[in-house]
Amino acid sequence: MRGASTKNTSSNRHESPGGLWDSMKKAAFVIGSGILFLAAFGNSLTWHLQRFWGASGDFWQNLWTKLYLAFEGQDAALFYFGTMLIPFFAFWAANALLLLVDITGKPSFITRYRIQVDKNNPVDPVKLRHAVRSVIFNQVFISGPMVVGIYHLMSWRGNPCSPELPTFHWALIELAVFSILEEVLFYYSHRLFHHPGLYKHFHKQHHEWTAPIGVVSIYAHPLEHVLSNMLPVVIGPVLLSSHVSTTSLWYCIALVSTTVSHCGYHLPFLPSPEFHDFHHLRFNQCFGVFGVLDRLHGTDSKFRQTKQYERHTLLTSFTPLTESIPDSPKKGQ
Ligand SMILES: [Zn+2]
Ligand SMILES: [Zn+2]
Repeated sequence: MRGASTKNTSSNRHESPGGLWDSMKKAAFVIGSGILFLAAFGNSLTWHLQRFWGASGDFWQNLWTKLYLAFEGQDAALFYFGTMLIPFFAFWAANALLLLVDITGKPSFITRYRIQVDKNNPVDPVKLRHAVRSVIFNQVFISGPMVVGIYHLMSWRGNPCSPELPTFHWALIELAVFSILEEVLFYYSHRLFHHPGLYKHFHKQHHEWTAPIGVVSIYAHPLEHVLSNMLPVVIGPVLLSSHVSTTSLWYCIALVSTTVSHCGYHLPFLPSPEFHDFHHLRFNQCFGVFGVLDRLHGTDSKFRQTKQYERHTLLTSFTPLTESIPDSPKKGQ
């Protein structure tokens, strides 16, 4: 056993520089393909709207101007509409669909993609109610006041609700910067919350769910919600003095993607949730979002020896990965 582990360590050491490069390429691929998807989706959506709805000129600028005028110069209300209400509904729309599956255990064409096959089938209603109450508390009493503070900070530095939209390309560059900032800040703040002195008081709550579901993504102690969930996401738009439209889009992406990472189903054509699901299963592995810093610090070494790691790809077929890459038979079977 000792021999085997020494062998693993030395082979990890050999592949470590290549491994890091490989994981940076993967992260660049995830961020890049997300941005390409948004670019293609944005362009074709614009084209369709202009072609079939008879919209003329710059469709998005016209839409924004209408919204801007509708708020009659009440910038604060416009900012809260974009950064509280829209992301709140994006989060709950995604989670309502997932909750239906978690509560009913149906339809089976979705439940067969479950990562931890024997868990949450169906989900414990008492545990779920407690988590939902805590999530709503965090959204209303923690995220809400934070966004008010952010509005004042951003208005002091510039004008987040300017009548002119940023260019589409600038918005995409901003999203890439936000993602990198999130990876760095989330990794280190999250690892800090795993320090034994802090873990038992704060982060243990989030880890009550060893098999997470979508809403559990912001089921956390309020202090953790501020420092580890909100701060890594909200800092980017503040630093870049972003427009409220970009900030709103980014908050929605952040909330929906953390929902996917926690949802417990590895569904086709969606980002792989294996990485963070494994974090909930094993506690001391996979702290980041994209995994670049985990590779750098070696906090994914055990993960990389598992079936979950082999399954940690974009699923491009309809065969569940637990079937195409089955668990190894247990010893003695
Ligand atoms: Zn989590
Ligand atoms: Zn954790």
